[in-house]
Amino acid sequence: MKLDLKIQPLSSWITAKAQPLLIAGPCSAETEEQLVATAHLLAATGKVTALRAGIWKPRTRPGEFEGIGSIGLEWLKRAKAETGLPTAVEVATAKHVEEALKGGVDILWIGARSTANPFTVQEIADALKGVDIPVMIKNPVNPDLSLWIGALERVNNAGITKLAAIHRGFSSYEKTAFRNEPMWDLAINLKTHAPELPIICDPSHISGNRELIPYVSQKALDMDMQGLMIESHIDPSVAWTDAKQQVTPAALVELIDRLTLRKPEVVNKDVKDKLADLRDNIDKIDDLVIAKLAERMKIVEQIGNYKKDNGITILQVNRWDEILQKRTNYGKALNLNPEFTEKLLELIHGESIRKQTEIMNKGQGNAPVQEQLTHS
Ligand code: PEP
Ligand code: MN
Repeated sequence: MKLDLKIQPLSSWITAKAQPLLIAGPCSAETEEQLVATAHLLAATGKVTALRAGIWKPRTRPGEFEGIGSIGLEWLKRAKAETGLPTAVEVATAKHVEEALKGGVDILWIGARSTANPFTVQEIADALKGVDIPVMIKNPVNPDLSLWIGALERVNNAGITKLAAIHRGFSSYEKTAFRNEPMWDLAINLKTHAPELPIICDPSHISGNRELIPYVSQKALDMDMQGLMIESHIDPSVAWTDAKQQVTPAALVELIDRLTLRKPEVVNKDVKDKLADLRDNIDKIDDLVIAKLAERMKIVEQIGNYKKDNGITILQVNRWDEILQKRTNYGKALNLNPEFTEKLLELIHGESIRKQTEIMNKGQGNAPVQEQLTHS
């Protein structure tokens, strides 16, 4: 089903400084110095197109830093005046919209928690009636495509045609390496419903840590997303929010330079299609291999706990010999080089031993009594 959205192309409201289109800035505006200094460093990279900063922060628990508030709009104004970077902020109420517009903000975005609530989205949409400003809508925290689409429709119905979606991953009960599961299929599904709708990826909130950001960014580009929104802070180690996932402007440049950009055209279309198909298959298989390895490690942990509780040694040579023998033979039958299979198994086994050693030694000696009890 194609959606009936009236959308202007991305190029009508944002001109990328470089490829990929990059929106960057701190998770939160904290102080005038932090924001303005970060903005200068980002602008100097020549790769950043717009400056993001949260000034009203939706926090899961009360008592955490909830954003600096409207004064941040003044700092953003100064950052823009000094760097020429257009600014983007999150809005969650009609009042935020009103203040952001008065404060001269260039781009608004609706956060994941707001998108999950149609009342909130409608309130924001109503406040936007008759206003010509670009709005980006993050996916809702829960993996519900209809809610995301509903929010896009509400804002579009209010007359906003400079519209984009932001893919920031989805909350899931099962904890994985990602802070928010990317669930790429959902974003791709949105693309099939609205091919003309630009989708920007937010690898920072998907990853939740700096290490995963390059992987997610590359994947987003490979999924043909139109740009990236990445949190960047002058000194992430002291950031007031999302410290683990922010990168310095220098690290941001390095990360962006390492990304492989898709070539606009390959001469031979058949070759291109075939290659893309094959690579697609490889990507799927690699993802499966990684997922299965993670699953294997979970079981290794269970075995580790079991061995600990029953006073069994970590390594049982017979078991390891058996694994090596059986798997190498299996690999041979499937045309895998035995040396390769052996090396791979050794690597996996080494990591399993490391994990179990960690489990065995946890809570030994100096651990509080309570912890020892839960393990016994
Ligand atoms: C943010 O961009 O800092 C933010 C709060 O993101 P999200 O709405 O994706 O959680
Ligand atoms: Mn954040």
